[in-house]
Parts: sequence; C-alpha cells; structure tokens
Amino acid sequence: MSQYDVVIIGSGLGGLESAFILSKEGYKVLVLEKNRQLGGSLQIFVRDKAIFDTGIHYIGGLNEGQNLHQSFKYFEIMDKLHLHKMDMNGFDKISFGDDPIEYNHAQGYDNFVEQLSLQFPKEREALKNYVTLIKEVCDYFPLYQLREDEAPIIGTKYLDISAKDFIAGITSDPKLQNVLGGSNPLYAGDGSKTPLYVHALVVNTYIESSYKCVDGGAQIERFLTKNIKAMGGEIRNYSEVTKIVERDGKITHVELKGGEIIEGKNFISNIHPASTMDILESDKIKKAFRNRVQSLENSSSAFIVDIAFKPNTFEYKNHNYYHYKRNDVWTGMYQIGDAWPDGYCAFIPKTSKSDKYADSMTLLSYMQFDDVKKWADTFATIPKHRDSRGQDYEEFKIGKAEQLIDEVEKKFPGIRNCINSYTSSTPLTYRDYIGARDGGLYGIAKDYHDPIKTFISPTTKIPNLFFTGQNLNMHGVLGVTVGVIRTCGVFVGQNYLLNKINKA
Ligand SMILES: Cc1cc2nc3c(=O)[nH]c(=O)nc-3n(C[C@H](O)[C@H](O)[C@H](O)COP(=O)(O)OP(=O)(O)OC[C@H]3O[C@@H](n4cnc5c(N)ncnc54)[C@H](O)[C@@H]3O)c2cc1C
Repeated sequence: MSQYDVVIIGSGLGGLESAFILSKEGYKVLVLEKNRQLGGSLQIFVRDKAIFDTGIHYIGGLNEGQNLHQSFKYFEIMDKLHLHKMDMNGFDKISFGDDPIEYNHAQGYDNFVEQLSLQFPKEREALKNYVTLIKEVCDYFPLYQLREDEAPIIGTKYLDISAKDFIAGITSDPKLQNVLGGSNPLYAGDGSKTPLYVHALVVNTYIESSYKCVDGGAQIERFLTKNIKAMGGEIRNYSEVTKIVERDGKITHVELKGGEIIEGKNFISNIHPASTMDILESDKIKKAFRNRVQSLENSSSAFIVDIAFKPNTFEYKNHNYYHYKRNDVWTGMYQIGDAWPDGYCAFIPKTSKSDKYADSMTLLSYMQFDDVKKWADTFATIPKHRDSRGQDYEEFKIGKAEQLIDEVEKKFPGIRNCINSYTSSTPLTYRDYIGARDGGLYGIAKDYHDPIKTFISPTTKIPNLFFTGQNLNMHGVLGVTVGVIRTCGVFVGQNYLLNKINKA
C-alpha cells in the first residue's frame, strides 16, 4: 500500500487546483474521483456533435492583471486556454415579460455605467454610486484581489447586508433595481437571504471581464490534470470514497467502493462538507458540528435543457440572456406548477467551428428538489447524462422541457425549427453525477441573517482533514480558486502561496 502525503477526495476544480499547488510544493498527491470524467462541474458532454458545459458557461476576471488571469498563470494554464471575449457593451442581457428592451450589463466599470445610463438616463449618478460601492465591498475581501488576508473576513461590515435591500437603496427605479440584480441566477440569488457580498463578488468579476471557453470549460480540467501528472501527482477515476476513517485522532485511510484502502498523511475533501460527514467514521467531530453542517440549506437547484441545433440554423450570440416573466428578479424564477417557468437563463456556447452559427444552447430555470422528490430513491445508472428513472420521470422531463422551450420561443421566434434534439437534467442529475447535495447548484446557500453560520473553515477538529471547493468561500471558478488558496495556505503558508501566485 502506498502512502501519500495528501489524498484528495473529488476532482472538481477545488480538488485539481489543490493537487496542482501541493504537487508543485513537493507533496506526493493522489486525487480520487468517483466518476469516469474528471472535473466535477467543469465537465462537458457531447450530443449530436454539440458540446455542452455542465457547470461553466462564462468566466470573469481573465484580463491581463486581473485575479483569475494571474491565478491561471500560476496554474500554468492561462496561455493554453482557448477563450472568447464576450460583448463589451452587453455580456449579459436582462429582459422582462413582453418588454422588448434588453438591458445590458457591460464590461469595464465605466462602460457598465455608460451603457446602463443610455437605458436609464436619469440614473447615471445612482449607477456611479452602485459601482463605487460594489468595488468597496470587494475591497473588504483581499484574497479576491490576491492580497494578504490580514483581517479575517469574519467581522467585516458587509456580511449581514441584504443584496436586494442594498440595490433598493441605490435607486428608487424598480426597473433598474431588477436590472442590477438581473444576473442573480449566477449565485441563486434569493431576496430573503442573499448577502450583498455574494452579489458584489460575483458581478465584480464579470464586469471586470467576461469570457466563454471555446468548445467548453473541460479544457481547464484537461490542462490542470496534465500539469498535475507532469509533477508526479496521481489521479484516479472510478474511485468513489465510501469511508473516511479516523484512528487515534487522525485520519489514517479512506475506503473506496469495492473495499480498497488508501492510506495517507493528510486528506482534503473536495465534496460537500455534509457528504463528508456522512462518510466520516469518527467521534472527534462533535455532533453539534455535524448537525450544523448537515442542516445548512443548499442553494436552489435547476432544470436544464441542452439543445443541439441543426447545422447553420441558429445565429451565435456573444452574450447571455436572463429573462423574467415578471418584474421581480429576486423571486422571479421560483414559480412552480402551471406558472413555471417564471424565467430562464440562456447560454450559447462558442465553438471553434463557426463564428456565425451556434451548435447549441443551454436553458436553465430554477427547480426545487421537492419537484422531483418522487424519484429521489432512483439513481442514474447509464453514463453520459442519460437518466434512467422510469417512464413517468422521462415524461415529466419532456413536459418541463417543452414548457421551457415554449417560453424561450417568445424571445427567439422560430427557434423550434432550429432544434435537432435536446436533453434535459433535473436536481437528481446534479445529485447523482456531481454529488451535489439536494441537487443544489452552488452548494451551501449564504444567508445575510446569520452569515457566520455558512462559513466553512478549511480546517476541521481532526488535524489532518481539510475542506476545499465551492462550499468553503464561494462557488464559481473564482470563488473555488480563492477557497483553494485558503486550504493550501494551511499547508504551505497563505502569504507564501499568494506571493508565488502574484509572481507567476
Ligand atoms: C449549472 C451550473 C452552472 C454554472 N455556471 C458557472 C459559470 O458560468 N461560471 C462559473 O465560474 N461557475 C459556474 N458554476 C459553478 C462552478 O461550476 C462550481 O462552483 C465549481 O465548478 C465547483 O467546484 P468544486 O471544486 O466545488 O467541485 P465540484 O464540481 O462540486 O466537484 C466535486 C467532485 O467530487 C466528486 N465526488 C463526489 N463525491 C465523491 C466521492 N465520494 N468520492 C470521490 N469523488 C466524489 C464529484 O463526482 C465531482 O467530480 C456553475 C455551476 C452549475 C451547477
């Protein structure tokens, strides 16, 4: 049995980035992934020759000098990625009901103010104030600027402010309020819970710069994997961890499905902390902690339709759409029953094949786990996103997909004629393929009423067990990368690591 310095459970972005850093620093690292495909939400799939992203539709902060650009330089992938810059004057378009106007979120702070001032001429000062305050909030989170984190984020002043209330304080124009919050499916925004800092950190990164990954985001996983292996790191797929075992106060080994034992000196869990607790055999973690982590609410889940177009029928659009039936972005997508879908996001991947036409489109609308609870005891058994949970489930999915496409056809008349085929996924798909708790899109939901409750430390009461991934700090490529800096900072020193990243 080989002895690893660090065994990482899960090959999501957090697991892979941690493996890169620790391999580079001389640790003997092993990553264990339950699926065939590595990368968690970075993975893509192909249907009818079209490539679909499962969890990366666009990425911010990738201009030279920006935080993710610098981090990706350190991970030695920046110059390898095939990226496509989105529309400068409107990378996101927000629209409402029958109103034909599409409101633009533009790249660059001055340009953001400029473009929205064209649509809201009386609100220029409010918009200037908005961007000043967003930047100020982001400044309170130094790790997001790759700066030393002298004062821990806990205790800073922006944690317990509601994003919705903050925006309402910026302008009394209800339309502009909704436009400013209009991309909130990026963080599963909920008017009754979402803190301002979540809104600020997410919109900031995309306003800085917005890019699509040409032919999908799996390239991030591919290049990271290659780099990890080149440094001697090992990655195993089809390796589901079923037990994390503690003896005399330390984790000694993990057990894989099938019974294989993997020993190690340190263990990093890249899976949901609650799922980690499910498989952790130890009484060193207090029941109160287990209960807290396992009772934390997860962010909303979604129903997703991935459409493959007939060749050369649907023109490529270099932006995303966020559409709401009603003028309320903070509850706007939560309708269930006949009123569903109350809104949707439409993402149009960029391919290397054509600048003029799109191969595909991904539609996302919220769906709660309860909507598919009936099939909760079924598990997907066929790979490549083909669910196999019975005929009634298939009919449910087709019904929902048709409802969603009907709605989208109002914005894109004739889109049905362009469709070659489509496939769909539900909260159960995310639960079974990624291990997403309750199918939640972005892990633990943040709540401004009790912000500290949702902060997960990278360290645990067991000295050689650590957490990383989207549940630590925040979700998204940037959020996960910042979380990784915290986790690996425990091993090599956070400031040492920041220094390395900044000098890359
Ligand atoms: C629909 C959707 C759209 C998104 N769009 C964007 C976007 O446009 N831009 C952006 O920046 N972010 C986006 N995100 C968020 C982003 O994809 C995630 O926050 C990020 O990829 C999560 O990384 P992670 O490290 O937490 O790992 P995850 O991706 O959650 O991966 C965890 C890994 O662990 C594996 N695993 C689980 N249990 C076990 C086990 N017991 N043993 C071994 N392996 C196990 C899983 O199979 C998986 O590979 C999106 C997410 C979703 C769901």
